[in-house]
Amino acid sequence: MCTECNYGSCPDLININVPELFASNVFSEKIMKERLPKETYKALKKTIEMGASLKPETAAVVANAMKDWAIEKGATHYTHWFHPLTGSTAEKHDSFIAPTEDGSVIMEFSGKQLIQGEPDASSFPSGGLRATFEARGYTAWDCTSPAFLKEDAAGNVTLCIPTAFCSYKGEALDKKTPLLRSMAAVSTQALRVLQALGNTTSKRVTSTVGAEQEYFLVEKEYFLKRLDLITCGRTLFGAPAPKGQELEDQYFGAIKDRVSAFMKDLDIELWKMGITSKTKHNEVAPAQYEMAPVFATTNIAADHNQLVMETMQKVALRHGMVCLLHEKPYAGVNGSGKHNNWSLSTDDGINLLEPGNTPEDNAQFLVFLCALLKAVNTHADIMRATCGSSGNDHRLGANEAPPAIISVFLGEELTNILSGLAKGEKICSAAGCRMLKIGVDSLPELPKDNTDRNRTSPFAFTGNKFEFRMVGSSQSISGHNVALNTIATEALDEIATRLEKAKDVNAEILNIIKDTVKNHEKIIFNGNNYSQEWEKEAEKRGLPNIKTTVDALKSLVTPKAFKLFAKYNVLSKEELHSRYDIYTEQFSKHINIEAQTAMQMVRRLYFPAAIRYMTELGNSMAVAGKSATVQKELLESIGSLLTSANKKLKKLEEETIKSQAIDKVDKQAVAFRDKVRPCLNDLRADIDAIEVLAQRSLASAGLQRYAVQTVIRRQDKTAAAAGEGSPILLCCRPTACVGIANTARGSLRIPGFFHSLISIL
Ligand code: ADP
Ligand code: MG
Repeated sequence: MCTECNYGSCPDLININVPELFASNVFSEKIMKERLPKETYKALKKTIEMGASLKPETAAVVANAMKDWAIEKGATHYTHWFHPLTGSTAEKHDSFIAPTEDGSVIMEFSGKQLIQGEPDASSFPSGGLRATFEARGYTAWDCTSPAFLKEDAAGNVTLCIPTAFCSYKGEALDKKTPLLRSMAAVSTQALRVLQALGNTTSKRVTSTVGAEQEYFLVEKEYFLKRLDLITCGRTLFGAPAPKGQELEDQYFGAIKDRVSAFMKDLDIELWKMGITSKTKHNEVAPAQYEMAPVFATTNIAADHNQLVMETMQKVALRHGMVCLLHEKPYAGVNGSGKHNNWSLSTDDGINLLEPGNTPEDNAQFLVFLCALLKAVNTHADIMRATCGSSGNDHRLGANEAPPAIISVFLGEELTNILSGLAKGEKICSAAGCRMLKIGVDSLPELPKDNTDRNRTSPFAFTGNKFEFRMVGSSQSISGHNVALNTIATEALDEIATRLEKAKDVNAEILNIIKDTVKNHEKIIFNGNNYSQEWEKEAEKRGLPNIKTTVDALKSLVTPKAFKLFAKYNVLSKEELHSRYDIYTEQFSKHINIEAQTAMQMVRRLYFPAAIRYMTELGNSMAVAGKSATVQKELLESIGSLLTSANKKLKKLEEETIKSQAIDKVDKQAVAFRDKVRPCLNDLRADIDAIEVLAQRSLASAGLQRYAVQTVIRRQDKTAAAAGEGSPILLCCRPTACVGIANTARGSLRIPGFFHSLISIL
């Protein structure tokens, strides 16, 4: 570890050999090929690609090779890494040690240990699927997502084995199991369609995902002063700062040094784990950023996105900052989302949503496009349900994120092609107008950059994929992709049946297009989704507009949802019920935490500070006598706000206690939404109004707005030696090489206890 280097001149950081570094902590295909006997490698590949069952002997050989590789890389422990329904990940570490008769140990890892684990799972949410007395849960190796090593600042290296997590009876208790099931389902039905279209080469279809991740960074020092940020991940109070995002100077702006140092460190950590971090930039709100990877198979993309969120949080701390993944950390500026780019690809490299140049490619594209239109129109409610969370409620429909109405953006050209084909009209493009025959003619070239222009659509076709833009920034992307895969499966199943029966496939494709336009055209909307006209228009079209999580989640437990998910063995009725209960309960729990936090902050912080200021004003009035007009006015204003805030605080307390006492999960969530949340907002209004009147020097009580400050810290060996920050794995202490740069600290500050916004250095 180097503690000597300066920012910008640390040799290890400058001379990174990215190809060498990339996936160096992954038990990758390359490593497997090098380390496994040929037969074992072949058998494992067959399991990974075709789902063939894995023999215990093969698993034993793989386990041993994995252990040897991990130990060479410094690992002492392994863990079955899984995705419980909390939305985050879980791990329990076991060392490789096995005692021997002579009192020493050897390092062991058996095939059985690789394949299955039995964690005591009583504290994970199961939604009634598993009683506490049958606490066992089972983790099962998902060999389609490669094992990897996690390193921590203390130097621990742990072999992480991605696993599914089920109950004794095999019911899914996690996010991965249904995702894998939905991937298998969509592959089967998409292949049927392809075969009916004459494809004889593709053997598998996988859904692919690229998840763009938005996040905020905040100075750790300020974060720690905000109970609301600590417990809720968002500010519950804070008047708007004088400057927000109105100058539009943050989006794609030059990245500040300190943030750039964080991003570099993040890239390195992600690359080591084989995560293809590709794009980084400033986002719209102050202190908001984005990272986008290159897309991957959905299952791997979902695993990677969890690691991205975890790594962002870890690396930010090393740089003296905290990464906020909440959907709405600050009122008045944009929140964060996650754009889930989704497509279907064959094992021989055909993107099924790529328009292509030949008549056959075009026909294939149109069929898959129709499937998606039908899928989304039929199950918009299910897509909406997957985006439900108390955090995302602040974002959807708030003119920064798509509205709660699901629609599909295709772009004018593609929409015209579809409707023209359906009506038997000539198709017009720059090259002129002509009749198109499916399977015989090519489609006119679609202008690619045009398709990307509409940024307000929740589900936009962007040239060769769909971009689902309603996903919340802190959510696991599994549920969204389970939904997309499964609704696509159903539509493809129906289309496959039609094509298989058809005497003339091209004629049937045209019929499918006609039916799709007739029955599902209403889901297409190319205009401004943020406008009020759209809300009215959508209502006329009969599209659902489900505004809150509590209502949205109900779409998981309708006869339609039960039928869909059961038919393709993705989720049973019981599994859907359990998910509904867990997510609904999570909603209530989040609001409950917010209410508790708000009450504590108001009682302990804001009231005492305001009262202190009022006392000072009173004293001043005594001194100033008749000329104390300002003091009097202030005292009256603050006094009346305080009285009002006190009433609202009591109401909040009352409603929270009442809501806590409701024992039916859905009724309780309704109470938290309709009673507690409005009280929180009301209370905030008064406290925020006091903030702008209060005195700056009441900083100790947290009533200070921090002015924009520039803290210039010199590169300082003493600080580094004192261990500010934890060691960076690759090279050196961040304080030595990046944190304490001999440059201005280019980060964001959250001002004081109150303020909802941050100023930037
Ligand atoms: P934008 O910001 O314009 O939406 P980006 O290039 O930042 O575009 O992000 C696009 C995302 O879509 C990337 O993560 C990219 O890898 C992903 N993507 C591209 N092609 C596919 C595909 N076929 N399937 C899934 N995701 C894809
Ligand atoms: Mg995008």
